[in-house]
Amino acid sequence: MKLLDGKYVSEKIKVEIAEQAAAVLAKRGRKPHLVAVLVGHDGGSETYVASKMRNCEAVGFKSSLIRYEDDVTEEDLLVKVAELNADADIDGIIVQLPLPKHIDPEKVTEKIDHRKDVDGFHPINLGRMQRNLPSFIPATPFGITLMLKEYNIETSGKHCVVVGRSNIVGSPISILMARNTYPGNCTVTICHSKTPDIKAMTLQADILIVAIGKKNFITADMVKDGVVVIDVGMNRESSAVTKSGYKLYGDVDFEGVSQKASWITPVPGGVGLMTIIGLLKNTLASANKEVYE
Ligand code: NAP
Repeated sequence: MKLLDGKYVSEKIKVEIAEQAAAVLAKRGRKPHLVAVLVGHDGGSETYVASKMRNCEAVGFKSSLIRYEDDVTEEDLLVKVAELNADADIDGIIVQLPLPKHIDPEKVTEKIDHRKDVDGFHPINLGRMQRNLPSFIPATPFGITLMLKEYNIETSGKHCVVVGRSNIVGSPISILMARNTYPGNCTVTICHSKTPDIKAMTLQADILIVAIGKKNFITADMVKDGVVVIDVGMNRESSAVTKSGYKLYGDVDFEGVSQKASWITPVPGGVGLMTIIGLLKNTLASANKEVYE
């Protein structure tokens, strides 16, 4: 078994991003600028947004955080997004999900100008991605493709089984793995909660990508020898022994599955770190007008 090491790959790519951010500053007289909007005080969201802001600063981006309490109205949030869309100093806008129940995430996602949608969730970006046109690719799937590239993982002709069909991970990564490009050219099977026999599917996987949010769901008996495993799961459990007060678990039972896998991502230290890279790369591409004029 070899590790798909998110720490190693992300640190390496961050050096390149920092160089390119410095070039943006030299050319335009301002840094690439990411704005995050955070509603409420969800523990996971607080951690993810803080990490995004910290990483922006580390590579020489400007980052701004706009906070709202849980009771912000949908209308106020949409007005703020429109304001950010119109601000020429801003290259990327993210609204951290999940949002409180009274706010429709689809409305907010569609309100973000697709040219600043560095999360890649806007239907225009998703449609363009499916057509293999320049677009912002959702950060987690983008990070996964960068990881596969870094380790030269062969994907063409392979059977890729994706477990989970969320808009932010399962669905877009299944599109990317099926596209006629590298990484891609896989035969893709998507599983979800209505799939009757998941094990029958996962046993066929040459590449297995799991994003369901269930601790240690995939066990050794569900995979074949030599499988490449990408574990997207981030399941937080409180812990008395860690400094943060919680411990992260993947959707894959690392101990058992790593005995059979040829390559596998750890949790933590895998996809989570690559997701940040996807976001940074999208923000840089926006600042450089690489995707849209
Ligand atoms: P989500 O929106 O919660 O959706 C979960 C998906 O898994 C759904 O498609 C659901 O099926 C499917 N599912 C749930 N239970 C299942 C079961 N028992 N068998 C088969 N399918 C099942 O998922 P998400 O937002 O993609 O998040 C998934 C996990 O990835 C979470 O742990 C999350 O924290 C983590 N995550 C990590 C990163 C990262 O950077 N590493 C980024 C995003 C998410 P239905 O559609 O039928 O309901």
